[in-house]
Amino acid sequence: MPPSGSKTTPMMKQYFSIKERYPDTILFYRMGDFYEMFFEDAVVASKALEITLTSRNKNDNSPVPMCGVPYRAANGYIGKLIKGGFKVAVCDQVEDPALAKGLVKREVVRVITPGMVLEDTFLDESNNNFVLGVTRTKDQFALACLDISTGTFRVTESGNDRAVMEEALRISPSEVILPGTNQPDPFFDDIKAMFGETAITFLDERDFSYARSRQVLTEHFNTLTLEGFGCEHLKAAVSAAGGLMAYVRETQKQKLGHIDTIETYFLDSFLWLDDMSCRNLELLRNLRSDSRQGTLLSVLDKTLTPMGGRLIRQWLRYPLLNRQDIEARLDAVQEVSGDHTRRTDLRENLKSVYDLERLASKIGMGHCSARDFLALKQSLGQLPTILERLSLLSSPLFKGLDNITVLTDLADFIDAAIREDAPPTIHEGGMIKPGFNDQLDNLIRISRDGKGWLVQLEADEKTKTGISSLKVRYNKVFGYYIEVSKAQSKSVPAHYVRKQTLVNAERYITDELKNFENEIMGAEEKRASMERDIFNEIRSAIVERIPEIQRVAKFLARIDCLLSFAETAVMGGYCRPAINSDGRLYIEEGRHPVVEKMITGERFVPNSIHMDQEENQVIVITGPNMAGKSTVLRQVALLILMAQAGCPVPAAKADIPLTDRIFTRIGALDNLSAGQSTFMVEMEETANILNNATPNSLVILDEIGRGTSTFDGLSIAWAVAEYLHDLDGKGVKTLFATHYHELTELSKRKSRVKNFNIAVKEWNDEIIFLRKLVAGGTNRSYGIQVARLAGIPESVIKRSKLILYRIENEDHLAPNFSEGETKPEKGKGAAVQIELFQSPEKAILDKLKSLDVTRMTPLEALNVLDEICKQSQ
Ligand code: ADP
Ligand code: MG
Repeated sequence: MPPSGSKTTPMMKQYFSIKERYPDTILFYRMGDFYEMFFEDAVVASKALEITLTSRNKNDNSPVPMCGVPYRAANGYIGKLIKGGFKVAVCDQVEDPALAKGLVKREVVRVITPGMVLEDTFLDESNNNFVLGVTRTKDQFALACLDISTGTFRVTESGNDRAVMEEALRISPSEVILPGTNQPDPFFDDIKAMFGETAITFLDERDFSYARSRQVLTEHFNTLTLEGFGCEHLKAAVSAAGGLMAYVRETQKQKLGHIDTIETYFLDSFLWLDDMSCRNLELLRNLRSDSRQGTLLSVLDKTLTPMGGRLIRQWLRYPLLNRQDIEARLDAVQEVSGDHTRRTDLRENLKSVYDLERLASKIGMGHCSARDFLALKQSLGQLPTILERLSLLSSPLFKGLDNITVLTDLADFIDAAIREDAPPTIHEGGMIKPGFNDQLDNLIRISRDGKGWLVQLEADEKTKTGISSLKVRYNKVFGYYIEVSKAQSKSVPAHYVRKQTLVNAERYITDELKNFENEIMGAEEKRASMERDIFNEIRSAIVERIPEIQRVAKFLARIDCLLSFAETAVMGGYCRPAINSDGRLYIEEGRHPVVEKMITGERFVPNSIHMDQEENQVIVITGPNMAGKSTVLRQVALLILMAQAGCPVPAAKADIPLTDRIFTRIGALDNLSAGQSTFMVEMEETANILNNATPNSLVILDEIGRGTSTFDGLSIAWAVAEYLHDLDGKGVKTLFATHYHELTELSKRKSRVKNFNIAVKEWNDEIIFLRKLVAGGTNRSYGIQVARLAGIPESVIKRSKLILYRIENEDHLAPNFSEGETKPEKGKGAAVQIELFQSPEKAILDKLKSLDVTRMTPLEALNVLDEICKQSQ
């Protein structure tokens, strides 16, 4: 706002009246060739953009802070501000300054926010850019998400607020729109907290009202009801979508014709994998650097088109629950896996297909150039061949475009109209091919012929006047003129009008020359504007076909993903999983798809695992650190996810139970990179699992209880495992990796618990990791051996052996050592055993009781005795 006392010019008044309506944006105010920013905007933007902050009315008492960017380079600066989380309102001159009486009229023509971006340079090609609208009714929670750069618009609602919050995280929006209410609401508070780093905008609550929303949407789609989109009666969902649409209209100032449908979906149609688990399993981003490297996506994504890249992400993030749908994908992948040539040929075609979704949006919203038309043409040009190659395949997923034209006519139309060498802007002409428009061709002829005419004129005048130095020239000040050297200037005819005298020459104009000039100059200008008109006509013609283009885009995205799965499967030696509904999980020789690619030096050791609802429901996996426990756990989860996404899996054989939810809890120490290694978070997540797991879920608990004292941790781990085993009287399939080998005791008490361990071999006080999952528990931690492998100095290793020995033998946890002492009295190194549930004496007694000496051979008896001796040491 203007500092009090400052003189307010008419221009500044205009500025304030516009700025007032866009308080939370940085206002780009067009002045000539620049966009200027003032006051607080200028201070903030100059810092963010690293440009100079100056001031207007420098000599005034209260100068106005100001900075500016050149109009032609504005995009780059806007992009930088958007990336920094700002919103930018672009205010242009909406009348020709030359014709304006007084102050030029200015208006905001577009508001660019992180979620309202169309320009390729601001967008990540392989990612959707969603803006999210969230609202609620009394008992329903809803969200809608829209990517204006692709036209994707989806909506859902649920009575489960947690599920909707998880869905909001899954969508991972770059901007969030909420109804601005004054009443405290825990749901909205949680959403706000969840998106603390994301741009949030509050709209008038009324924009989210059902009645208004329904009207906004039916108006937009030009329908009577929302029946056709499946959301007519989902009040909360309609409200979320309507609120979002209101926001889009307000910022874009135009109808978004390319958004021609809204997809209603339900959360329980997809496998539920919460955001934390998605990170733990490193599906899309790795835990270390948040990048794509080392993720499941990076291994599976061999797509060749941008829309395929976005779809495969969605397939991985939304694994299916419907068996037929899964089998349909697997069928298609299998069919094309078996046909190397066809696959390679099709993939070759896809390489020439551009981002059809984003092209359609850019063309639909008028942010396009002739080059976008060429990209569209080239992409559509691939279609006939692609469809022909697909026609011999039988899977239904390869069909679906048969009923619409392959848009060849549109490609031909663009081909006839647009020059291959069209420039990247639409202002200077050079876009339209000769022969496309007679009038344009005429204009072009005039300006081209004009050049010849000038040459002729020069020759003619030379002969007529006999002046050998006569030349016809052009400059910006006079336009065309005739130049004659001083020496010969006396011979010029009377009708030459002298315009300028130079040292050595005189310059003249003639009527003939000026008439010509008017014609030719007009032609150049008319040509540019006529090309722009023709360009817009072509654009309108393409806009009519956008729904078809989008269908083609969706179809090609699907083909691209199926081919990508096939390619990965063939190259990686994957197998087609069987899918069952009886809770049986059987993986034979399974591998971790990412680890098998990442390890160097070592060969990946495949592992088999069997789980069911009857005997092998809770699997407790023990083994020293670094043995491979976490790897096996994640491997099982990933294979289920892949199978339900319709992708073959890295195994010799796999039978996968339809799984509704996968929960993972990765111990605090393993998850430091997430920056939340508190015990509280661990327990909250465990609570979430216990409250939401169903008998058809898979639970992965990796080292739970690590974040607290040993005894607490062990007790919690034990109780959690029991709870999962008993859940709903049926139990949940659970994989439990732990370094508390005491947990192996659980199998004696609970019928469906089984112990496994990852085998290691001891060799000269060192261990060799065998990486094989084998039945049975272990009772050793090998912590010190692992420490040695990690390069801990030998003196520390020796010293810790001694401490360990003392703790074990003196039975208290703070042994009193003389410093520097490193030699244990006896050469033993067993791990710390916390005998919480059984004393060693009792174990030996139990063992003795169980023996039937009459049936033992002497050798067997000796072996048992040996075992007991070891145990008692
Ligand atoms: P743990 O959870 O038991 O501490 P991890 O699962 O984290 O062990 O595995 C440690 C490392 O061992 C992995 O990073 C990987 O390099 C290697 N590894 C794990 N499983 C295998 C396997 N089956 N074959 C080969 N290497 C493996
Ligand atoms: Mg681990």
